[in-house]
Amino acid sequence: MDSASASTHAYDDVRRTPSRAPRALATEAVHAGRDDLARQGLHAPPIDLSTTYPSFDSRAEAARIDAFAATGAEPEGPPVYGRLGNPTVARFETALARLEGTDSAVAFASGMAALSAVLLARASTGLRHVVAVRPLYGCSDHLLTAGLLGSEVTWTDPAGIADALRPDTGLVMVETPANPTLAEVDLRAVAHACGSVPLLADNTFATPVLQRPAERGARLVLHSATKYLGGHGDVLGGVVACDEEFAGRLRQIRFATGGVLHPLAGYLLLRGLSTLPVRVRAASATAADLARRLAADPRVARVHYPRIGGAMIAFEVHGDPHEVIAGVRLITPAVSLGSVDTLIQHPASISHRIVDAQERRGAGVSDRLLRLSVGLEDVEDLWGDLRGALGAGATADPVERGAAVV
Ligand SMILES: *Cc1c(COP(=O)(O)O)cnc(C)c1O
Repeated sequence: MDSASASTHAYDDVRRTPSRAPRALATEAVHAGRDDLARQGLHAPPIDLSTTYPSFDSRAEAARIDAFAATGAEPEGPPVYGRLGNPTVARFETALARLEGTDSAVAFASGMAALSAVLLARASTGLRHVVAVRPLYGCSDHLLTAGLLGSEVTWTDPAGIADALRPDTGLVMVETPANPTLAEVDLRAVAHACGSVPLLADNTFATPVLQRPAERGARLVLHSATKYLGGHGDVLGGVVACDEEFAGRLRQIRFATGGVLHPLAGYLLLRGLSTLPVRVRAASATAADLARRLAADPRVARVHYPRIGGAMIAFEVHGDPHEVIAGVRLITPAVSLGSVDTLIQHPASISHRIVDAQERRGAGVSDRLLRLSVGLEDVEDLWGDLRGALGAGATADPVERGAAVV
């Protein structure tokens, strides 16, 4: 065997794991995307930082590039160029597809780059119309509302999806639980209403640990990998899990527009996946406990905690939400979510600021809503910090508190 085919073998192994009995999620989380390592004499996955790959056979390269241009299937054999695919990133893609129960996954530089690629893939076939359900993550809402990529959006509720479809509708988009209100939609019912139009479910909040949208009819499952998949607040990334046909189109868009995930980010995301089930279950147990305590606190007007559980809580306070943000000591007042440490933010000021105020309130994002991303700290320490911060919010705004009580 010459050296070119030896490296072909190693790279192809990353993506084409031999067929075998299905494995549980916790097992896939630590083994998927790594099945070839032991045979290669490795334990930790190698990080391949090459931007380009040598090939002495340019006739063969021409054929591989033609094949990619036709279908977007990953080129057979060794990698060609970093924008076409990277072996370390491929490990993360393989693992995430396995966790979501899809054929394939395509990784991007961020969640927004992933959503952009989906919109471009649809618009390039002439299907520019999108039907979407609010609330969505603030920047997703903005991308659709402003039509930055040439799409046109119709906002509706889940019951209105079937009526909102047009001949040029290329996509239906929902988040469940949604950012930031944690509103849930029935994915099976929505997928049915979509007919043949692809349904994109943003699964960033639930993660495949709590919900696998592809099993309920979503053709596209989107993640801001920046959140739970990475899980440590130190890597930006996005990914779409889907069937191989759609994945091919996404790879072609990624190749042409360049929103690639860096290999170091691919490594960190793969490492993040290995603890995903443990992190999500532990943080969810703490979040469920905190949601109960918040609901029983007289300074809290309303608590939103999803039926499917999870590590996110949204709650509305009677007092001034800005004072609650200013009052935390252990919890970090910051946008983003899904990290090992607990974060709190005020969606109307930060994550959903870019959404028109009227539309934002109409979507259930009240000006008194706070969004808490529960981490792995001890529940008593978190509750102590929240209680203190709620006290700050309650006393700093006695007029408004009085009004709310009346
Ligand atoms: C953060 C987020 C995004 C955007 O992801 P980035 O990685 O920040 O680009 C999309 N959807 C949801 C639900 C998010 O929370």
